[in-house]
Amino acid sequence: MDDFTIGCHLSCSKGYANMAREAASIGANTFQFFTRNPRGGKAKDIDPADVEKYFGLANEAGISTILAHAPYTLNPAAAKDETREFAIQTLADDLRRMETTPNQLYNMHPGAHVGQGAEAGIDKIADALNQVLASDQTTTLLLETMAGKGSEVGARFEELAAIIDRIDLDDHVGVCLDTCHVWEGGYDIVGDLDGVLDEFDRTVGLDRLRAIHLNDSKNPIGAHKDRHEVIGGGHIGLDALAAVTAHPALRHLPFFLETPHDKVAEYGDEIVLLRDARAELL
Ligand code: FE
Ligand code: FE
Ligand code: ZN
Repeated sequence: MDDFTIGCHLSCSKGYANMAREAASIGANTFQFFTRNPRGGKAKDIDPADVEKYFGLANEAGISTILAHAPYTLNPAAAKDETREFAIQTLADDLRRMETTPNQLYNMHPGAHVGQGAEAGIDKIADALNQVLASDQTTTLLLETMAGKGSEVGARFEELAAIIDRIDLDDHVGVCLDTCHVWEGGYDIVGDLDGVLDEFDRTVGLDRLRAIHLNDSKNPIGAHKDRHEVIGGGHIGLDALAAVTAHPALRHLPFFLETPHDKVAEYGDEIVLLRDARAELL
């Protein structure tokens, strides 16, 4: 039995049912999408008829887990109050909307401390999350591991652990590990995947890990640039990425491609490539 849950990032502009159709057309059994324009802005109203149709199509396609991604410009660690308040309002609105599709995952970039220092950033992010998480929500909010570009918080596992430590409703919080980001953040998932996962387990805890962004990287380890590459085309390489998908601590997780492609069909080719490479390791 193939228990591989894999999909890619899809455009949300034509609605949920269309995303289920697109996912099925490329052999995916999950997908990621932006909740709204990735640069922020107002979200389109969710159409209940579209969601109803989506549930039917998802069921047919074997899609049970989906991952929504917050706009990447939100900064709950911002120094400016208006910027921070906008992030908090948007996160709260997204989490309300997520309940239209219960029990799913919502991923966000923790934020950037913009010169205030990582410690202040961690405090502000945790405070923002304490304002938006609700005890009755069914959505799990994921903090993404970052590449450490600029003043990004979350490139070190310790920083993610520190944020989670300060969250009251931490039962609703997990982590999404991005292979390009951790690699560029300085974690050697090519030479020592077991060591990196041990370190993650000691700091954050592997039970917090709920999703993987599967990307190759245009840069060498520790570059802190955050430049994704197609699978097998970068410095991480196909073998190491296949090993991530087959690792006993990870293989049950949903995997999401965020590789640079123009056409959805190209993700289909990558899914075939990874299915084959993973099968050889299992
Ligand atoms: Fe992301
Ligand atoms: Fe990512
Ligand atoms: Zn990235």
